[in-house]
Amino acid sequence: MIDPREPVSALMRDLRTGPEGLTGREAARRLELYGPNELPLRRGQPWWAALGRQFSHPLALLLWVAAVLALGSGAVALGLAILVVIVLNAVLAFWQENQAEHAVRALGRFLPAQVWAVRDGSRTRVPAGQLVRGDVLLLEEGERIPADARMIDGGVEVDMSALTGESEILDRRAGAPDHADRSLDSPVLVFTGTACVGGAGRALVHGTGVHTELGRIAALSQHIRPEESPLEHQVRRVAWLIAAVAVGAGAAFLPLGLLAGLSLGSAFLFAIGLLVANVPEGLLPTITLALAAGVRSMARRGAVVKRLSAVETLGSTTVICTDKTGTLTMNSMRVAEVTGEPGETAEIVARCATAELGDHAGGDPMELALLHYAADSGHGLPPAQRDAERSALNAFDPERKMMSTVDSVAGAPRVHVKGAPEEVLPRCARWPTDTTPQQVRAQIDELAGRGLRVLAVATRPWDPGSPTDSGHVERDLTFVGLVGLLDPPRPEVPAAVRAVHAAGITVHVITGDNGRTAAEIARRVGLGADRVIDGTAVDAMSDDRLDTVLAEPGEIVFARATPEMKLRIADALRHNGEVVAMTGDGVNDAPALRRADIGVAMGRGGTDVAREAATLILTDDNFATIVTGIEEGRRVFDNVRKFVLYIFAHAVPEVVPFLLFALSGGLIPLPLTVLQILAIDLGTETLPALALGREPAEPGLMDRPPRPRREGVITRWLLVRAWALLGVVSALLVTAGFFVVLCVAGWRPGDPVGPGAPLHHAYVQATTVTFAGIVACQLGTAFAARTEWASLFSVGLTSNRLLLAGCAFEIVFAAALVYAPPLQQVFGTTGLAPWMVALILPFPVVVWAADEVLRWRRRRRPAHRTTPDRRLPHHDFESGTSVPG
Ligand code: ADP
Ligand code: MG
Repeated sequence: MIDPREPVSALMRDLRTGPEGLTGREAARRLELYGPNELPLRRGQPWWAALGRQFSHPLALLLWVAAVLALGSGAVALGLAILVVIVLNAVLAFWQENQAEHAVRALGRFLPAQVWAVRDGSRTRVPAGQLVRGDVLLLEEGERIPADARMIDGGVEVDMSALTGESEILDRRAGAPDHADRSLDSPVLVFTGTACVGGAGRALVHGTGVHTELGRIAALSQHIRPEESPLEHQVRRVAWLIAAVAVGAGAAFLPLGLLAGLSLGSAFLFAIGLLVANVPEGLLPTITLALAAGVRSMARRGAVVKRLSAVETLGSTTVICTDKTGTLTMNSMRVAEVTGEPGETAEIVARCATAELGDHAGGDPMELALLHYAADSGHGLPPAQRDAERSALNAFDPERKMMSTVDSVAGAPRVHVKGAPEEVLPRCARWPTDTTPQQVRAQIDELAGRGLRVLAVATRPWDPGSPTDSGHVERDLTFVGLVGLLDPPRPEVPAAVRAVHAAGITVHVITGDNGRTAAEIARRVGLGADRVIDGTAVDAMSDDRLDTVLAEPGEIVFARATPEMKLRIADALRHNGEVVAMTGDGVNDAPALRRADIGVAMGRGGTDVAREAATLILTDDNFATIVTGIEEGRRVFDNVRKFVLYIFAHAVPEVVPFLLFALSGGLIPLPLTVLQILAIDLGTETLPALALGREPAEPGLMDRPPRPRREGVITRWLLVRAWALLGVVSALLVTAGFFVVLCVAGWRPGDPVGPGAPLHHAYVQATTVTFAGIVACQLGTAFAARTEWASLFSVGLTSNRLLLAGCAFEIVFAAALVYAPPLQQVFGTTGLAPWMVALILPFPVVVWAADEVLRWRRRRRPAHRTTPDRRLPHHDFESGTSVPG
């Protein structure tokens, strides 16, 4: 066992490594020997426990009770049928949840973690999973620490909260005196899973994978059940309401059936049948699966979300707060303009930088552009020489908006500063001859007005021995010149901006850059930039004032903004009832990313810390991908509504026949048997419902305003459509079919139809027509449910292949029930005459056409074409509160 706290030289000997790390070959050997730096995926529950849960959740228990009651009262066929329902539902739900879990786990593939390590003596990008003991890690601000390691050089600030649960920032420094009791408290050790939020340094890896503190904790900790998303929560509530309604309906049927002349036994069976038919046991897993499928297809399109529930939140986004650099622009910069003495400017930007050109090129794109400029004008410096001649570095920080170095130039120490002109100019005391501060300000405005990002550079001689902190270094400067950098907008952004505007979404730009530059870029990509508000102005505003400013319509450019400002803006927008997506890249952006409804981080640029805090990660760093995510989110939510609509619609044609029987006091025989109801529920319902969860996006999806925050899945419109339209039309059709068959055989109200009666065969045929009729109507409903607004023709009859397959299965299954003799026996069906089949054939078309007319009328209503003012409180029907009994 190696003690990571022993002297560094001893530790290096024990790990058979040195200050220059391992060779690539040795690292490969060790990888083979010790295995990858990964934690084994925690299998949450053994599969049998997860399956068992599907048999024991409350809705399943309700079905168990029904099965026991049926078996106990001698209805063996019904009892067995209910058992089959339970088993099939459990297996399906188990499969669906497995798929969902899989989808979320597979997301890791889209975000491979890369770290810097020393291999073969030089700085190398290494996948975090391939780190081994003895590697030398290079830690920088914003990175996740990928292994347990000992600091051997420099110092870092680490956020240990992931490991200890306490969010405090601690200093970890090579050579610090170590008197800690626990290794977790040792000031020289850093641990996997924590994050470096400041400083830089080298660390020697001594533990990877399961041999880390995190690995030990992970082995102990229990599987955490994923939190329930608001959508799932809502649907669970609705499922319970419906279950309660079903129990109530079953209980109410008992006396009605008895009054109508049923024996106690059969009245009881029908009560159970009604109950079983209406318990929506498949609803929840179907929703989970639809969300998971959404997560997967978003990931393929570059938007990786970390929680299933983020899918639905994204869909209801009303405001996007975006960075400028790298998100709206390409982040591939080029120096376009330099003022002042060019040679001096080039010399300063070559030294006052942390990025590197050459073999190990890397760093901030703007610095790279500056280094290219310096090299092209003959002032390039090898990174090794630059670092050797540097005696102090005050790294760039978005609060100060500048950075400074102290370097020895030809033996003489000098201060070099570059940064935002607003910050650098006030720290300048001397100006070149023929230059006045007024002139420089005019030049800044001119460059910024052309959309260029403007930097100021300055210098002065340095007194050896004076303090090197930024406060002392960055003052009394001599202004040298300005650099204007061109960072062209991404070509795909203008179209994405048009798309979000069509979708009724407001976009604010929050940038550290100059207001003119930002406004010009915003204008070029088509953003409103109705107001440009400077960071200092935001600082001077009270929270109430900021709320008011953000509540006014129009789009805002927040310039010279700091990370805290992002947090305040996110708060204010949420206070105004907006659903906020906020981008961020730095360590300091993490709180704002957490506070927004959807924190958005970049997969390539930006820091690990920002990615950790975010819920959505754009693998291509592209603003347009946020729009893709919103579209996917809306699509998934719509699809959930589609299958809820489909599942709700069948209740009316199933219940109405029973009511006819009961209310007619037995004059009308029962049009549908209990087992037939179960067959619909079980065999013909599931697959088309699943397929509706995979509908492609409906045309016009992104031309509608966002869904109000409080609007549930189940709206009044959905219930009207499901019950009053699709349900009632279906019920009318199937009861008509039932009566037609009976009457053609010469039946009059009250005629006996029981076994042995002359009309018995006609009666069995009539119930079979009811059954087949409901199946036919559900086919029509499935196609109607495919769109909420658009006409079926605009999406194409065949564009959902899964649904076609589901419908084919539904037809085959129903045909087997009607024509296969063994099944006829069980389900009380009989073969239909050709004219009866012909009678049913138009049912799907009639149901669908009725809904098509309804949607057509909805599209024509002008009220829905215009964007409602989202700022008025929205009193929409909220789900669950009034599902009628
Ligand atoms: P953004 O990325 O939104 O433009 P940042 O917070 O990254 O905002 O930068 C704010 C300002 O700080 C920039 O406009 C620029 O003037 C200055 N700046 C950015 N990066 C550096 C750097 N590496 N060195 C010096 N100044 C910088
Ligand atoms: Mg930046």
